[in-house]
Amino acid sequence: MTDAIETYLAANADRRLAAYLDFLRIPSISAQPEYAAACREAAEWLAGQLEAIGVEHVEVCETGGHPVVYGDWLHAPDAPTAIVYCHYDVQPVDPIALWETAPFEPFVKGDRMIGRGSADDKGQIHIHLRATEAILATRAALPVNLKFVFEGEEESSSVHLDAWLEANKERLGADLALISDSGFFEGNRPAITVGLRGICYIQVDVTGTAFDLHSGTFGGAVQNPANALAQIIAALKGPDGRIRVPGFYDDVVALSEVDRAAFAALPFDEEGYRNELGLPALVGEAGYSTLERRGARPTLDVNGLWGGFEGQGAKTIIPAHAHAKISCRLVPAQDPGTIFELLRAFILEVAPPGCSVDVSFLGGGKPSLTSIDHPATQAAARAIEATFGVPPLYIREGGSIPVCASFETILGLPVVLLGFTPPDDHAHSPNESMSLPNAETGIRTVVAYWDELARLPR
Ligand SMILES: [Zn+2]
Repeated sequence: MTDAIETYLAANADRRLAAYLDFLRIPSISAQPEYAAACREAAEWLAGQLEAIGVEHVEVCETGGHPVVYGDWLHAPDAPTAIVYCHYDVQPVDPIALWETAPFEPFVKGDRMIGRGSADDKGQIHIHLRATEAILATRAALPVNLKFVFEGEEESSSVHLDAWLEANKERLGADLALISDSGFFEGNRPAITVGLRGICYIQVDVTGTAFDLHSGTFGGAVQNPANALAQIIAALKGPDGRIRVPGFYDDVVALSEVDRAAFAALPFDEEGYRNELGLPALVGEAGYSTLERRGARPTLDVNGLWGGFEGQGAKTIIPAHAHAKISCRLVPAQDPGTIFELLRAFILEVAPPGCSVDVSFLGGGKPSLTSIDHPATQAAARAIEATFGVPPLYIREGGSIPVCASFETILGLPVVLLGFTPPDDHAHSPNESMSLPNAETGIRTVVAYWDELARLPR
């Protein structure tokens, strides 16, 4: 890091911390309508910050929901252009009784910033604002072109984001999108997330008669919807953990030797993981390690199952209907729509006679994957190593950041996931916190990243 940047950051440490605290005091909970004004206040606050540090064309953009905050700086004609994406909305605070302090009265405790949004994701916006500020204040120019996109609905399914991206395709032209909404690996080891799973969520409804039947009078003569549902579910997966739906694995991109080596290199304590869960054994698809199965292989899980008599004691009926909610985590290049059709066809095929079966689609999201050797990812790795002193781990997250696929598919951009939250940040939970050393070093990492990116051949 240049002396000028360090001198600037040192001289502005108090002001920087104060701005972070101000941002966290705005209760921008996107899911609850009573906080809509607070979401707008957070957007306006952010727009003011962007303008103050020298970002141009700053706009609080209407989306039909909570606004997107846009701003750019485009005076590096021969350098790449990056979109910077983070979200300024936060999760609700329930259960409030488990918070040790008020969620929107942030404070510093030891080396942590405590408060809702301190990590997810206001802490990462803080990092980007202060990195940009430091470069513009000391050099009067950025080494790359930046377009900031700060969303206000990430925690409530990004309802309006895709349409906004679609409508703003022209002004969002770029070479890559940098998403800062992820974090470090166990042990607070710096990490770059290179894969996110997608999802396909379905419901299966099995119906027999119009009302429950006496199992003595009718048992043996009619189909039992609960038994039928159990047969269907049992047919979906083999004892080897493989999903038996024909075509299910057709689009799965096989793990390369490099991918498998990256998984094997992660410092993962499998026994400790099992112990923490209190389970007699870990299970899953044969031929893959636990981390591979969790991050890079598709799954099929029953999320809920109901039907028939669920009260105390015995009631001898043949239930009129039975239901299951089932979700599949998807990996590249599986498509949620295609997977739904395959599941539906197979379920209808294996459904036993004597009942009617309905399969409905409850929602989906596409998986995403960046190759570890993409130059923009390697630039991020060099920036991490230069500032944190260790090379990053490459991790695949089992969950999803749907916006990632939106940038890939709507804008056609490669995505780099560079995030700095510690693994024990309690995001979405009471007592959320951010590691201040991670945030402070993260500011330097982002500065180093733009310099690294500027050096890449176009
Ligand atoms: Zn987030």
